[in-house]
Amino acid sequence: MAKKYVYLFSEGNASMRNLLGGKGANLAEMTNLGLPVPQGFTVTTEACTKYYEDGKKISDEIVEEIYKNMAILEQINNKKFGDKKNPLLVSVRSGARVSMPGMMDTILNLGLNDDTVIGLAEATNNERFAYDSYRRFIQMFSDVVMGIDKNKFEAILDAVKEENGAKYDTDLTAENLKEVVKRYKELYKQEMGVEFPQDPKVQLLEAVKAVFRSWDNPRAIVYRRLNDIPSDWGTAVNVQTMVFGNMGNDSGTGVAFTRNPATGEKALFGEFLMNAQGEDVVAGIRTPQPISTLKDIMPEVYNQFTEIANKLENHYRDMQDIEFTIERSKLYMLQTRNGKRTAQAALKVAIDLVNEGLIDEKEAVLRVDPKQLDQLLHPMFDAEALKAAKPIAKGLPASPGAAAGKVYFTADDAVEAAKGRGEKVVLVRMETSPEDIEGMVVAQGILTGRGGMTSHAAVVARGMGTCCVAGCSAALIDENEKVMKIGDVIVKEGDYISIDGSTGNVYLGEIKTVPPSLTGNFATLMGWADRYRKLKVKANADIPRDAKVAVNFGAEGIGLCRTEHMFFAEDRIPAMREMIVSKTEEQRRNALNKLLPMQRSDFEGLFEAMGEHPVTIRLLDPPLHEFLPHEDEDIKALANEMGMAFEDLKATVESLKEFNPMLGFRGCRLAVKYPEIAEMQTRAIIEAAINVSNKLGINIEPQIMIPLIGDIKEMKYVKEIIVKTADEVLKEKNANLKYQVGTMIEVPRAALTADEIAKEAEFFSFGTNDLTQLTFAFSRDDAGKFLESYYDKKIYDFDPFAKLDQNGVGKLVEMGTKLGRQTRPDLSVGICGEHGGDPSSIEFCHKAGLDYVSCSPYRVPIARLAAAQAAIKDEK
Ligand code: PEP
Ligand code: MG
Repeated sequence: MAKKYVYLFSEGNASMRNLLGGKGANLAEMTNLGLPVPQGFTVTTEACTKYYEDGKKISDEIVEEIYKNMAILEQINNKKFGDKKNPLLVSVRSGARVSMPGMMDTILNLGLNDDTVIGLAEATNNERFAYDSYRRFIQMFSDVVMGIDKNKFEAILDAVKEENGAKYDTDLTAENLKEVVKRYKELYKQEMGVEFPQDPKVQLLEAVKAVFRSWDNPRAIVYRRLNDIPSDWGTAVNVQTMVFGNMGNDSGTGVAFTRNPATGEKALFGEFLMNAQGEDVVAGIRTPQPISTLKDIMPEVYNQFTEIANKLENHYRDMQDIEFTIERSKLYMLQTRNGKRTAQAALKVAIDLVNEGLIDEKEAVLRVDPKQLDQLLHPMFDAEALKAAKPIAKGLPASPGAAAGKVYFTADDAVEAAKGRGEKVVLVRMETSPEDIEGMVVAQGILTGRGGMTSHAAVVARGMGTCCVAGCSAALIDENEKVMKIGDVIVKEGDYISIDGSTGNVYLGEIKTVPPSLTGNFATLMGWADRYRKLKVKANADIPRDAKVAVNFGAEGIGLCRTEHMFFAEDRIPAMREMIVSKTEEQRRNALNKLLPMQRSDFEGLFEAMGEHPVTIRLLDPPLHEFLPHEDEDIKALANEMGMAFEDLKATVESLKEFNPMLGFRGCRLAVKYPEIAEMQTRAIIEAAINVSNKLGINIEPQIMIPLIGDIKEMKYVKEIIVKTADEVLKEKNANLKYQVGTMIEVPRAALTADEIAKEAEFFSFGTNDLTQLTFAFSRDDAGKFLESYYDKKIYDFDPFAKLDQNGVGKLVEMGTKLGRQTRPDLSVGICGEHGGDPSSIEFCHKAGLDYVSCSPYRVPIARLAAAQAAIKDEK
C-alpha cells in the first residue's frame, strides 16, 4: 500500500506525535474526546522530510492527497474552497514533534480572494470582518510565504489609520479596510512582479511549502540546537477550518494554561482579546485581558471552557496550554499541549500532580526537564541591596530570576556586547520577535514594553530560563535612537539596569545578586531522583570553594581536580612557568619545591571540603601554550626571578612553542620526561591526605589520576613513580593510608587497548573533551570557527563537544568500558569531560554501564535528575 502522508483529525490520536507533530496529534485526540475542534487534516512530518529529500518539492502523490482531504473537509463543513457564495477558509500551521513556539510559520484565513471575500461578507453579513480577514491574509501570506517585509504592510495600515483618525485596528471601517486591501495588493505586485495569487489551491500549496521551509529557517535551527531537537524530524502541517475571533464583539480569541506557568499554582491562567485573531494575542499588539474576566463577559462560554480545561488536564495528566477561539459566542478549541513552564512551576506541578494522585513519583521525576533546573540555580537579588533600591517601573513578571546588565536595544547589539566584549546584557525591546532569538540567548534578562504573559518574549524567556519582565508600558522605548524613557529617567544604550522577573520590577543601576536556596520542592524532587538513579554524580572542582558548592548541590565526590588550574592565579603562575622553562633537573626541582606547599594546602582544602567523599586528583596536564609567558615583560620578570639572562630565557620559551599544543607536550608526557613533577604532586597529595585524615579523624583514600595515557607501558612507568613516591611518604610519616592510581581515557588508543591498560589502572575516567577532539580531529580551541557551517549545512546538528557523539566517540566509551572490565571486573568507570553534565550524554553513560558522571558544580543537580530519568526510562 502506498504510504499515507495526510491524516484527517478524526484518523489520528495523541500517540501519533512523531508522525503528526504535537499539534496535529493533540487536535486528533481532542476530536476523539468529542471536544469542539474545527476539523481539518495534518500533512505528516514524513511528507516534510520527503519534501527535503526530493529537493524541496512536494511530490504529486502528496499534492493529490492534500486535495482529496480538502474535498472531505468541504463536505464536513458544507462549504467549498474558493466558492464565491459559501467559501471554506483554512489556517495552515506548523507543528513539530515538540513545540517550538514562534519558530515556524502560520498562515490564517487562507482561501480568501477578491471573490470569496464578497461571499464571506454576505454569508456572515459582516463586510468589515471579511475585509479585515482578507487584509490579514494578504499580509501573512506575503510575509510568511513570499518573504516580503511585514513592516511595509504595517506602514500602509498605519497610514490608513492616520488618514481616517482611527486609533486601533478595530476602529477601521469596512471601507477603510477595502482601501488597505487595495494598497496591500499593489504592494504585493510591486514586490513580486505578479498579482496576488487568487487561486486558493495555489495559495494552499504555497503555504504548505512555506511551513516545510520554515523548519529550516535560521531561528528554528538555533532553537533546535539549544533544545536538542534533531534536524531530521521535520514539521507536520495542520490545515484546519477557520473559525473567527474577529467576527465582532461576541467573538474573541485567547490562550490559557490550566495552572500558572510561572509559579505552578493550580488556577486557570491566561488571557484573551475580544474581536481579534490569534496572532494579536501572541504578538502583543493590544494588551489582552485576564481570562477570569471572560466570566463576566460570557459566563456560559467561560464555564464550558473551564470544564474542557479540566478534562484536558486530567486526560493528559499534565498542565495544559490551550488556544481557543470564540466565534459568535461559540467556543472552539484550536490547540492543547503540555504547557511550557518555569523550573519553579515544573517542580510544583510535578509534586502537586503526585499529591493529587494523577501521577507517581517516577513520572514526576520524568516531568522536569533537567536543563531547566538551571533556572533555579541562578541568582536572585541580594535582599539588602534590594531594600535600598527603588523600582522605576513595573511590568509583568514573565520569567523569574534576577538580572543586572547593560541595556542594548537590538539583538545584534546585545550579541556584539555579550560575545564580543564579554558584557552582561539586558535586552530591551518594544516587543521581541523570533528574529531576536540570538540576542535573547546571550542576555541576562529581557525587558519589553508591550505584550502579555504569553507574548513571544515571555514564552521564549521562560523556556530558556532567562529572567524576563514583559509589557512594561511605562517604558517608552525608542529602538532607533537607542534610548528608553521611564518617567523622567532616561536610560541610554550601555547604561545599567536591573530587572526582577519574579515581581516585574525594573530598577536603574546594577543590583547585587545572590545564589538561590535549594529547599522545598527542589529538595523533594531531587530526593525522588536520588532514589531512582543508578549513576553516581561527582563534580569537577579544583578549589575548595567550588567543592563546597558541589557538595551543596549533592555531589558525591570530586571526579576531577585539574591541578594545573591551581596555578593560573597571578601569584602562582611564575613558579609554574619557572618549572616549565627549567633547563636542568635542579632548576626544575627548585621550582617544584615552591609549588609543593601550594599544592599541599590546596589539596588539604579540597579534602576538608569533601570529608569522606572520594576525591580524584589528576596529575598536571597543562597545554604548554596556556602557561608560557608571551610578553617580553613577563619573560624579563621570570628571567630575573630565575637569575637567567633575558635572551637565554626567551630562546627557551621560543623553543618550547609547539605547532599543535593540544597534541603536544602535555598530560602524562610531562611525567615521562620529568618524573620529578609526578613525584612532587604525589607527595603533595599523600601528605595532604594524611594531614586531613589526622585532623578530621577520618580515612581519606585519594585517587590519583594520570592524564592522556595512550599505552600500557606509559601507564606503568608513571604509576611506578607515583607508587614509589607515595609509599616513601607513607613510610616517612609512618602513616597507613590507602590510595588508588587510575587513568583518564581520553586518547583513542587508550580506549582501544583498555584491556591492557586496566592491568595497571585501578579506575578509568573518560575525558570526552580530548576523546572528542582526538576522535574527530577537531581542535577544541578552534572548532567553533567552522562548526557553524556544519550546522548550517546540516552535516552536524549539535556541537560534539557539548553533546556526546554517541555513534563515534560513544563507541569508544562503550568499548573502553567493556575491555577494561574484562581485565578488572570491578573497575570503576566514570566520565569527567563536559558531557558529564549534559542530559542526553548522561543517559548514554547510564546505558553504557558507567558508575558515575562528573561535571561542573552547577550542573550537579541537572546530572542527578538526568541520571534518574535515564534509570526510570530504562526500567520502562
Ligand atoms: C577531558 O579531556 O575530557 C578532560 C576532562 O580533561 P581536560 O578537559 O582537562 O583536557
Ligand atoms: Mg583532557
